[in-house]
Amino acid sequence: MAGILELTVAEAAAQIAATELSAEEYFDAWREAAAGDDLNAYLFHVEHPVDHQAMDGPLGGIPVAVKDIFCTEGTPTTAGSRILEGYRPPYTATAVRRLDAAGARVLGKTNMDEFAMGSSNENSAYGPVLNPWDRGRVPGGSSGGSAAAVAGGLAPCAIGTDTGGSIRQPASLCGIVGLKPTYGAISRYGMIAFASSLDQCGPFTRDVTDAALLLAAMEGRDPCDSTSVGIEGGILAPSREDLGGLRFGVPSDLAGAGFDAGVREVFEATLKWIEDLGGELAEVALPSAEHGISAYYVIAPAEASSNLARYDGVRYGVRAGGDGDLLQMYETTRSQGFGTEVKRRIMLGTYALSSGYYDAYYGQAQKVRTRIAEDFKAAFEKVDFVVTPTSPSVAFELGEKTADPLSMYLNDFFTVPMSLAGIPAISIPAGLAEPEGGGRQLPVGFQIAAPAFAEQKLLEASYALEQAIGFDAKPVGSDG
Ligand code: GLN
Repeated sequence: MAGILELTVAEAAAQIAATELSAEEYFDAWREAAAGDDLNAYLFHVEHPVDHQAMDGPLGGIPVAVKDIFCTEGTPTTAGSRILEGYRPPYTATAVRRLDAAGARVLGKTNMDEFAMGSSNENSAYGPVLNPWDRGRVPGGSSGGSAAAVAGGLAPCAIGTDTGGSIRQPASLCGIVGLKPTYGAISRYGMIAFASSLDQCGPFTRDVTDAALLLAAMEGRDPCDSTSVGIEGGILAPSREDLGGLRFGVPSDLAGAGFDAGVREVFEATLKWIEDLGGELAEVALPSAEHGISAYYVIAPAEASSNLARYDGVRYGVRAGGDGDLLQMYETTRSQGFGTEVKRRIMLGTYALSSGYYDAYYGQAQKVRTRIAEDFKAAFEKVDFVVTPTSPSVAFELGEKTADPLSMYLNDFFTVPMSLAGIPAISIPAGLAEPEGGGRQLPVGFQIAAPAFAEQKLLEASYALEQAIGFDAKPVGSDG
């Protein structure tokens, strides 16, 4: 059984298509593996019988773990929040429907930070997810369940959402590949909204080839989301073996940023790999990127405060205090239904949008956002990619940062600028490093960002680098 679970998605799909592997047997093996979840990675397992006859397509027979932020018809969808307990959407998100059309099937819904707000999965109303590399540590967030499921051998692949880093950072902390496509590459229809101008869906996989396969299935224009445009020419399996003629920009301004010595070592070793493969390194200036966190933590809460106004105890999920008047019912429902971090963001966002402060905070943050996008644009005139570490540290201990929201927010230092600029970025596992305080070695991710809609080029370069690095994505000590 272990044999088939070790296949990559591309390998399994090829064997199923060639009828060397039964889709049923493969799916059942994964269903069994997922049922043994001891990481709290899943919130719901899908119980409906899978129609193996209808599983034709490039992903025919492939089970996918889906972050519980995607609406799935008739299956509970909570976004990690108590306020959506009992909600069963009447429709399915476009990204999930497209996977389904390619022959894949939902294996289960994965745990996440409430409404995707967080970097450790500790903001889930349903308990934290454990990192399969070290169960005393976080898997990252907000898509921690999806990342842990793939890294921990509970799913062959997964999807998540990334608003400021929620695919890349957990992929980095769990030692797998996570891709945030260009804003607009994949439809947001049926994805529960956090910050609509930033939210984007993407894959979690064990390798770059699988990431390309999932992206190929999900990308595309969708009449249900007017901001979706798809990727011209689609996405093909990457095959590039060298980096000759490609220029990689290393931001001079980020080099001085605080990150762990172990992370720095792996980052520098990866730069060396780039040169060995024929790639060229160049320094680039992103002078406004260091204000990314400040701008993001105004813009994202502002949009969230508006998006989350719909949870009023009338339209979805839970209602509390329904015996009094309407206002009292709203208040009780929202104070009992939302967790601390979500309330903090609603307050921050409402304040930033209030008439007296709109220009000082929201307006200012939007100007910074434009500057950051311009910085990238200028950089991409000189280089093909911009590279950084994905996360300033390896996976931290459960509880280590929960009391200090600012230190939690700093996790997103390297990932937020790309989100604000709307450009694609991938995290690939680049090596292992000891945590600052010592302990077992943990995965370190390497982030590569590209110009908007240059996903194919990004995947090609990532593939070449991945082959050279040869990272073994199997978690060590996953039994302990
Ligand atoms: N960690 C960031 C936040 O808390 C990003 C979350 C995300 O990308 N959904 O907002």
